[in-house]
Amino acid sequence: MKQGHISVQTENIFPIIKKFLYSDHEIFLRELVSNAVDACQKSKTLSSLGEIQVEESESFKVEVILNKENNKLIIRDNGIGMNEDEIDRYINQIAFSGAEEFVSKYKDSQIIGHFGLGFYSAFMVSKEVEIISKSRKGGAAVRWVCDGSPNFEMSEHEKDTFGTDIVLHLSEDSLEFADESRIEGILSKYCRFMPVSIIFGERSTYIDDPTGEKDENDRVKKNEVKVPNEINSTTPLWTKKPADLNDEDYEKFYRELYPMSFEDPLFHIHINVDYPFNLTGILFFPKLKNTMENQRNKVQLYCNQVFITDEVKNILPDFLTLLHGVVDSPDIPLNVSRSYLQEDGNVKKISAHITKKVADKLASMFNQDRTDFESKWSDISVFIQYGVLTDDKFAEKAKGFSLLKHVNDSYSTLEEFITKFEQHKDKSNQTIILYTQDKNANHVQIQNAIARGYEVVEFNSPLASHYISYIESKDSNIKFKRVDSDVLDKLIEKEESITSSLTEENKGALQAIFEDGFDKKKYTFKFEDLAPTEAPVIVTENEFMRRMKEQSALGGGMNFYGELPDSYTIVLNANHGLMQKLLVDSTVGQSKAKRAVQLAMLAKGILQGEDLASFLQSEFTELEK
Ligand code: ADP
Repeated sequence: MKQGHISVQTENIFPIIKKFLYSDHEIFLRELVSNAVDACQKSKTLSSLGEIQVEESESFKVEVILNKENNKLIIRDNGIGMNEDEIDRYINQIAFSGAEEFVSKYKDSQIIGHFGLGFYSAFMVSKEVEIISKSRKGGAAVRWVCDGSPNFEMSEHEKDTFGTDIVLHLSEDSLEFADESRIEGILSKYCRFMPVSIIFGERSTYIDDPTGEKDENDRVKKNEVKVPNEINSTTPLWTKKPADLNDEDYEKFYRELYPMSFEDPLFHIHINVDYPFNLTGILFFPKLKNTMENQRNKVQLYCNQVFITDEVKNILPDFLTLLHGVVDSPDIPLNVSRSYLQEDGNVKKISAHITKKVADKLASMFNQDRTDFESKWSDISVFIQYGVLTDDKFAEKAKGFSLLKHVNDSYSTLEEFITKFEQHKDKSNQTIILYTQDKNANHVQIQNAIARGYEVVEFNSPLASHYISYIESKDSNIKFKRVDSDVLDKLIEKEESITSSLTEENKGALQAIFEDGFDKKKYTFKFEDLAPTEAPVIVTENEFMRRMKEQSALGGGMNFYGELPDSYTIVLNANHGLMQKLLVDSTVGQSKAKRAVQLAMLAKGILQGEDLASFLQSEFTELEK
């Protein structure tokens, strides 16, 4: 028997390991199963190189065995194994010296996926750990045991089969892991797609009776049999060649990833890069509708088929976290703190690559089948707008496939809009794009614009006002104006001006009549010389103020605007016949003026509460007359 002192400088490294990442103790199992999987993979490689002999009948697997009575958890593999010498080298020296460095370096930082803890993470949950191993490279089988102090014992041991048993004697405060469903839960979280079969206990399945005996319904009887409970699928879809897969395969995989999802994704991107970095994965586009709410189905990050995390915020650009799916890359550094991640060269390259792939996919969909792309627009527009707002490279590419949805359900790109709809150019040659965020609320104004030969586009994403401000900031020849933000002739101002049929004096007198009884802090009255066919009174809402309020509501940091009350402009049409009538008879004028303003407010949807009640009452009284 060999006794030894693990080469660490400080005696108290284990308490640190134990306390480290308190909330995430469960990852010990991922670490140990990963090691076991690696040991199997190594055997496969060495046997294919002819360096070791492996029986053909032997299939590599990892078994996780829970022995509840003794609070023992065993991770068993038939992989490469270790002899005394190898344990000395890999466990006694390397592992523990690594541990010390690791702990001193990262004590205070939150390590992504807490990777790199390796074998010694076993001590987070164990009062004693045994390694019982037999190496395929030769040497006697050995047993190594350590109670969490830097002292260990190692001696020869009986073991028939090649491979390693890691035996954990769970400590009192870790008995939660002596529970089948807990272990199964951890395994299916972290090991679901590992490349070597992982077995945890047995499960029932039903097979045809071998004698062909029939049941009462004259069907062959089914017998219950126990089969090994395999946790994982060893060749998940993202490891396969896209050319060998069809849409159905992807849909099935989506269900496998997110069993609680009811909706199918819209489409997917299969990523497969091996130079200059390694990156595989499948990203799915969900139907986002108009929400950007935190989603249940998150993008999952894997490293060589080992689940690391679904908190990918610092790894992928923000807008890509709206997608679903899997990204697998051994080139994402897992042993750095989250705050360093974004600065990492590989991470930058990887996110740039994924961004490009996503943009290319959208572009090719747009080019290949525009009608289909348009049909998906309402579900992907939030994603695209988010990308445009936050990622310049994506924004550049998105110019080609970002659409404006017209209220008549046709679509155009910005460029198409500018060239096709000449009438939208105002007198300074700026293209004015009229839009609505609510077709119903703006119905009157939309119909009016359409009747005058204009187009109205529709935005209903929560990012709309940020997005259009962004577009305007990039191109000074474009201006978005909400269709109810002013009267049409002011929205798209043309050269020819309409002469007024009222004198300034008339206007002043009439304005006083109109203003009477309305809150001047909230409503600003003004005369405009509009076409006689326009409405006599039109309520508008200042574009700039409204956008600022919307953006501050979404958290744009402009709280000053958020706190301002709503304010409206009441535009009086100087050329409408009503004005002449009011001039002639100012006694009936008072009530007619009020009624006209109230009707305009009603059309705008802002006549509410007390005001609405008194308006209705006077209208109904009028009907009686
Ligand atoms: P890492 O896996 O990052 O190298 P670990 O501390 O987890 O670090 O393990 C140290 C070494 O011990 C491994 O590199 C491997 O050589 C050896 N080892 C650990 N577990 C096993 C196992 N189940 N079978 C064979 N070798 C193992």
